[in-house]
Amino acid sequence: MQITFTPEEDAFRAEVRAFIEAECDPAARERMQKGLGLSKDDYVNWHKKMATKGWSCPHWPVEHGGCDWSPMQHFIFEEETGDAGCPPAVPFGPEMVAPVVWSFGTEEQKAKYLPGILSGEVWWAQGYSEPNAGSDLASLKTKAVLDGDHYVVTGGKTWTTLAQFADWIFLLVRTSSEGKRQQGITFLLVDMNTPGITMHPIITMEGGHEVNQVIFDEVRVPVENRIGEQDKGWTYAKFLLGYERFNMAGIPGARRQLRRLKAVAEDQGVADDMRFRNKMADIDIQIMTLESTMLRLLAAATQGKDPGAESSYIKIRGTEIDQLLTELTMEAVGPYVLPFQPEVGHEGRNEAPIGPEYAAPVAPTYFNTRKVTIYGGSNEIQKNIIAKHVLGL
Ligand SMILES: Cc1cc2nc3c(=O)[nH]c(=O)nc-3n(C[C@H](O)[C@H](O)[C@H](O)COP(=O)(O)OP(=O)(O)OC[C@H]3O[C@@H](n4cnc5c(N)ncnc54)[C@H](O)[C@@H]3O)c2cc1C
Repeated sequence: MQITFTPEEDAFRAEVRAFIEAECDPAARERMQKGLGLSKDDYVNWHKKMATKGWSCPHWPVEHGGCDWSPMQHFIFEEETGDAGCPPAVPFGPEMVAPVVWSFGTEEQKAKYLPGILSGEVWWAQGYSEPNAGSDLASLKTKAVLDGDHYVVTGGKTWTTLAQFADWIFLLVRTSSEGKRQQGITFLLVDMNTPGITMHPIITMEGGHEVNQVIFDEVRVPVENRIGEQDKGWTYAKFLLGYERFNMAGIPGARRQLRRLKAVAEDQGVADDMRFRNKMADIDIQIMTLESTMLRLLAAATQGKDPGAESSYIKIRGTEIDQLLTELTMEAVGPYVLPFQPEVGHEGRNEAPIGPEYAAPVAPTYFNTRKVTIYGGSNEIQKNIIAKHVLGL
């Protein structure tokens, strides 16, 4: 696919590139390029730098601090920041709760919550899933009981990504057991410093701490922190999930990983193998195809069209490509794929790797990436959504 750019678009690309060179921490970029972990500061510092330029949440409506960019400018920005290895946006604030706040929140809520997300001062977490409510989210049991001008929240959320860094969490809670299960759910915004909240890390199989269990023990949440109407939270929750899936294409990350794969294949000598070259070419084509679909949906989205059920397709393909890339990288690295390599550069793990340096994060990344077809609504559930809402089956 050959995309041609106008002189203005070329100038915009040069501006983005110059900004990255001047402002994005080279150490964080190097960690991204090598597939190593990032710290909270890596994410926040880059977000704050972009905020000073007015670029921290470019997809937002202009009146809330977004950029008046064409779909092609968004594409260029994503491509350049991804290509350069800039820390990715943490989605829970800018891409999930913010659209809910500006679409369904009061003027006071917009004024209170949006600026902190835009500036990068406030980190949000997503509190939807529970031990027995994942795919079947409507079976959630964390309850909120109205007591004067507060809700009293009791229950537990699980798989809460990066909640160890969060200042606030958006929660789905049960406020009624009457009627259909989807009725009686309410959407609350909760300050993580409220008494009664405790957190327990969940360590994933490669040894990382990304997810948590968050327990709420009679946590008092002001009624003014409720989004929209009581018992109508399911509507806002579904609206948010459309945005979540839409952002899962991961094209720049896939391109970065493909570049790394090609370099590894070269170094390991498998790049000369015709069958392996075919596999790399095939995944390159898959990335290009997803990219053009994404551009089409992006163009529609900037004209105000809700991504809707088509975002399920983006989620499925983006995550399948992500997993395939890690599988091919495992294959290319060959004998150095040791599951318990010390992850160089990770806090407290500075032992020398076995084999070439690039081999160390390959197996941990492979194991970590098993999650992507599960979170954001599993891929099986996305296929059900496509069958029902796109194909009409
Ligand atoms: C790494 C990670 C990070 C996450 N981060 C967050 C977060 O920050 N906040 C949050 O709220 N949640 C988060 N989640 C939770 C995530 O949304 C759920 O794990 C997901 O929705 C699946 O739910 P479950 O784990 O309960 O699995 P289940 O719903 O029990 O599903 C188990 C299996 O059965 C399949 N299945 C279930 N129902 C059907 C069906 N009707 N048809 C076909 N197949 C079906 C599923 O596809 C899956 O393979 C995260 C999960 C992971 C793994």
